[in-house]
Amino acid sequence: MSNIVAIGIDAGSTTCKLVAIDRQGAMVGARLEATEPRVEVQVQRMLWALFDELGADPSTPLIATGYGRKLIKEATRNVTEITCHARGVSRALGRGGTLIDIGGQDSKVIRVGDDGRPVDFMMNDKCAAGTGRFLEHTAARLGVPVYELGRRALSARGEEAISSTCTVFAESEIISLIARGADPDAILRGLHRSLVGRVISMVRTVGVVPPLMLSGGVARNDAVRAMIAEAASEDVILPDQPQLMGAYGAALLGGTA
Ligand code: ADP
Repeated sequence: MSNIVAIGIDAGSTTCKLVAIDRQGAMVGARLEATEPRVEVQVQRMLWALFDELGADPSTPLIATGYGRKLIKEATRNVTEITCHARGVSRALGRGGTLIDIGGQDSKVIRVGDDGRPVDFMMNDKCAAGTGRFLEHTAARLGVPVYELGRRALSARGEEAISSTCTVFAESEIISLIARGADPDAILRGLHRSLVGRVISMVRTVGVVPPLMLSGGVARNDAVRAMIAEAASEDVILPDQPQLMGAYGAALLGGTA
């Protein structure tokens, strides 16, 4: 008999994640891929591969979250990302606090109680500034892969101020800076500063209950982590797999853990 008690599916705007948990709530299998145009077909394929690998029973509860959650017909239930990230992170870190989730197309600040439930939250899904898309879009101009962004920004000697918070205007500013011969790493540092400024203003609106905790794909970026800690003058902690926390929380809500 399989030891899998639930699978969480996070059909995000940028990446699609699956996490399987056992009876103790431990993560025992996971998948992550860039989101395809037909996410429902993609999830079906990813699920079968995970069932196969783990020998899971096809009747295992499947809990969907993320932008495309309502498209996942196999799901037994669907739950908002706010609830899932809060549950996943509080379980992984063993406490509540103020969670900042920065994904590909939105960012959220969630005050999480010690029981793992969201107490208050603020979400930005109207504007690319303050999301992974802001960094990706503008960094593509500089020819830097996403996993290199943070290291390059942190190693810059200087910093170019990016005054536009809008992605489209920021891109024009970058083009002018490149034309003036500015150091690409200093431009990247300025870009990160601008993203962090947006996120910190959300944090101030929600109010900080320490510690600050991070989740979402952008939490993998060292410069974002360091600049948030500096701007908020607070310690920042994060789980081992920040990008999988939505799917992990969904799985926990479907299991008994
Ligand atoms: P969503 O759930 O909204 O689809 P994710 O939480 O998966 O999005 O975050 C996607 C974002 O994470 C991308 O836009 C990218 O900026 C960032 N990202 C992904 N991998 C890395 C990495 N290795 N280093 C830094 N940033 C990353």
